[in-house]
Amino acid sequence: MRALRLREWKSEPALVEVPDPTPGPGQVVVRIGGAGACHSDLHLMDEFEPGTMPWNPPFTLGHENAGWVHALGDGVTGLSVGQPVAVFGAWGCGTCARCRLGIDPYCENPSAAPVPSGGGGLGLDGGMAEFELVPDARHVVPLPEGLDPAQAAPLTDAGLTPYHAVRRSWPKLPPGSTAVVIGVGGLGHVGVQILKATTAARVIAVDTRAEALRLAEECGADRTVTSGPTAAEEIRDATGGRGADVVLDFVGADSTLALGVAAARTVGDLTIVGIGGGTVGVSFFSVPYEVSIATTYWGSRPELVEVLDLGARGLVRPSITTFALDDALDAYRQMRDGTLEGRAVIVP
Ligand code: NAD
Ligand code: ZN
Ligand code: ZN
Repeated sequence: MRALRLREWKSEPALVEVPDPTPGPGQVVVRIGGAGACHSDLHLMDEFEPGTMPWNPPFTLGHENAGWVHALGDGVTGLSVGQPVAVFGAWGCGTCARCRLGIDPYCENPSAAPVPSGGGGLGLDGGMAEFELVPDARHVVPLPEGLDPAQAAPLTDAGLTPYHAVRRSWPKLPPGSTAVVIGVGGLGHVGVQILKATTAARVIAVDTRAEALRLAEECGADRTVTSGPTAAEEIRDATGGRGADVVLDFVGADSTLALGVAAARTVGDLTIVGIGGGTVGVSFFSVPYEVSIATTYWGSRPELVEVLDLGARGLVRPSITTFALDDALDAYRQMRDGTLEGRAVIVP
C-alpha cells in the first residue's frame, strides 16, 4: 500500500510503498476512510529533533483517523469486518490508573505502551495510508449512525482535544459567562462549536486571519476579535470589564498566552492547547487572582464517545476539505500558508 511517511526529523514527508499490515492477536487493521492533517504534524516536520520525543522517524503520519474494520486479529470480539469505526489515537499501556480511566495520553507506564507517549502517526504508523494497524482493539470505537469516516476522523483529535479542554471547565461556564477561543483553525473552529453545543457561555473567537474569524461566526461565535495588541482590551470591554471565565489558547505562542492572562477573569481557567512554544510568567501579581493555568493533551476514550455523539447528531460538524493521498502535501502547504479553512482530511 502507499503511505505518507516522515522519514527523518526536519524533512518533508514522502509518499512511499510499504507492506500492507496484518493484525496480530488482539489487533485490528482499519481501512482508512479519512485521516485528518493536524498542525502538530507541521511541528513534527519542522521543529522536532532527536530527543524531543521518546521516539523517532520513520513512521506514517496521521493521528486523526476513521474508516472501516478491515481485518481482525485472533481473539478480537465485538467488532465486525466492514463496520465503520474511529481510532482513538493515544496508545497507552492499557493497565495503569490513567489508561483504565481511558485517558491514555497521560499513561503512567509509557515504557509498557506500544510506543511511549505516542500512537499511530506519532512514533508508530498512522492513518495517512490505505490501512492502519491498531495495536489493541480497545482503541477502535464504533461510529454512531449518521457519521461517515471522513467527518468522524477530525473528531478524534480536532474534536476530542477541545472537547476535553472545554469539558474540564464546564463548572466555570454557566449562563452569563464568557469563553475565549484563541486560534480558529482545525481545533479552534470545532472548539467554538463544542462550547456552543455544551455550555451557555458567550463565545469570543480570536484569530489573525479574517477568514478564520468568518468561520468562527459560522460556527456560532457571538463575537470575533482580531488577534493583536488591542485584543485583551476588546475582550474586557465585551465582558463589562470582568474578563473571560475560560480562555482556550489553540496557538500557545508568547503573544497569545499573554493575551490569555490579560483577558482572564478572576477564578478563571487559562488552558494551553497549542504547541506554539510560548511561555508565560506566573507570579503573585502577574495573573488575576485564582486563575488556573493548565496544559491539556488530547482527551479520553469516553470523551471520544461523547464527541462522536455530538457529531452524529449534527451538533458538532467540522468544516473539512478533503484531499487525495497524492495531494496530502498540498494540505500541509495550505496549513502552513494559512489558506486552509477548518480541517484538511486525507481520503486515501
Ligand atoms: P491550525 O493551523 O489548523 O490552526 C491554527 C490557527 O491559529 C489558525 O487559524 C491561525 O490563523 C491561528 N493563529 C496563528 N497565530 C495566531 C495568533 N497569534 N493569534 C490568534 N490566532 C493565531 O492548527 P490546529 O491543527 O488547530 O492546531 C493548533 C495547535 O494545537 C497546534 O500548535 C497543534 O500542534 C496543537 N495541538 C495540540 C493538541 C493537544 O493535545 N494539546 C492536539 C492537537 C493539536
Ligand atoms: Zn493532532
Ligand atoms: Zn498506561
